[in-house]
Amino acid sequence: MRPIRQSRKLHHVRYDVRGPILVEAQKLEAEGHRILKLNIGNPAPFGFEAPEAIVADMVHHLPDAQGYSDSQGIYPARTAVAQYYQQRGLRDVDVNDVFIGNGVSELISMVLQAFIDDGNEVLVPAPDYPLWTGAVTLSGGTPVHYLCDEDDGWNPDLADIESKITDNTHAIVIINPNNPTGAVYDRLVVEGLVDIARRHQLVVFADEIYEKILFDDAVHHHAAAAAGSDVLCLTFSGLSKAYRVCGYRAGWVMISGPKELASDFLEGLTLIANMRMCANVPAQHAIQTALGGYQSIEELIVPGGRFYEQSMLADRLLNDIPGVSSVRPRGALYCFPRLDPAVYDIDDDQQLVIDLLRAKKILVTHGTGFNWPHPDHFRMVTLPDTAMLEEAIGRIADFLATRR
Ligand code: PLP
Repeated sequence: MRPIRQSRKLHHVRYDVRGPILVEAQKLEAEGHRILKLNIGNPAPFGFEAPEAIVADMVHHLPDAQGYSDSQGIYPARTAVAQYYQQRGLRDVDVNDVFIGNGVSELISMVLQAFIDDGNEVLVPAPDYPLWTGAVTLSGGTPVHYLCDEDDGWNPDLADIESKITDNTHAIVIINPNNPTGAVYDRLVVEGLVDIARRHQLVVFADEIYEKILFDDAVHHHAAAAAGSDVLCLTFSGLSKAYRVCGYRAGWVMISGPKELASDFLEGLTLIANMRMCANVPAQHAIQTALGGYQSIEELIVPGGRFYEQSMLADRLLNDIPGVSSVRPRGALYCFPRLDPAVYDIDDDQQLVIDLLRAKKILVTHGTGFNWPHPDHFRMVTLPDTAMLEEAIGRIADFLATRR
C-alpha cells in the first residue's frame, strides 16, 4: 500500500500550542518527569472549580439529553444568549441569531467554512489565538496579519490594518480581551476597528471569550457588536473560561447587524450546522444556568481573587528577570513577555521553549506559535497558584540566566 499522506489543505496549517512542544513534553512525562504545563488556558487542572449549579445542571439533564438537539442549539440556551446580549444593549438580536457549538473552536471553523472562498483575505491580529490563522487557512482563505503594538499596550495598529486592506479583504478578526497579550481594548479602539470594517465593508469576527475576565475596575469590555449596528458582526463566546468548564465544550456565536444582507451566508452556516447534527446536548443545558446565575467569576478577578492576584504576580516576577519585559495583562489568563534581543540572541523560539522544557520541566508556548513575526516572545498561562507561579517563574529565570 502507498504511504497515506495528510491532505494538502493542511500544509500551511499550524497550531503550535499543542504541537511539537507538547509532543516533547509527553515524551519527558513518559520517561517519568513531572512537567508543569503552562501552555494551555485550561483552569480545571489548576484547582479551579466550575460553579456548582453548572455541574448540577449537566448531571440533571443527562437522562433527558440523549437525543440530538436542533442543530442551531436548544431553545433555552439560545434564548439565554440572546437575552444576555440584549441586556448589554444590543437591540436587534433574538433566539434565531444564535448558534450553539462544541466550544468557540468548532464555531470558528464552521463559520469560516461557510464564509470563505478560495483566496479570500481575512485580517487576523498578530499575535493571535492561532486557531484563527489555522482555520482561515484550512478554509482556503489567506490570513493577513495586522500588528498589535506592544509599545501601545498591545492595541491594534489601525494604520497597519488600513494599509493591508485590498479589494479581496472580506473580514477582520478582533480578539478582545486578547489571547495571548492580555490587552483589553478601550471604547475608542473598538470603535476604530468597527469603523474600518464599516468603511471597507468587512464582516467583523469578534472573539470575546474572555469578556468577563477583566482585572481593573477601570477596565470595561466594549463589545464590537455594540459599536456598529450597521456592520455584520459575529460575536463568539462560551463557558470555557469564565465558567471554567473547558471540557464541557459549550460556546455560541451571535449574529448582529444587517442580517438581511447575510441570508445566503447564514443558509450556508445552517447547512454546516446541520451536517454536524448538534453540539453536546447536556452542555447546552448548562448555558442558561451559567448566564442566568450568580457570576462567581467576579470573585476571581478582583484584588484577593485568584485570577487577579496570579496575573499581577506573574507580571511582576517576569518583569524582574533581566532582559524581560511584559505588558501588564488587563484581562484573560496569560502573560506574553518579551525577551530583549540585545540580551537574548534567539533565532528559533520554539527551540528555546524545548530547551527550557528539557532543562526545567516547564512548558510555555513560543511567541511565533501565535503568529508573532519575531522569535522574541513566549506565552505562559497565569493559572497556577501563587506558590507554583513563584516556583515556575524562578525556574524560567534560572534558565534564562544561562542564555544571556
Ligand atoms: N478563542 C480564544 C481567544 C481562546 O483563547 C480559546 C481557547 O483558549 C478559544 C477561542 C476556544 O475556546 P473553546 O473552549 O470555547 O473552544
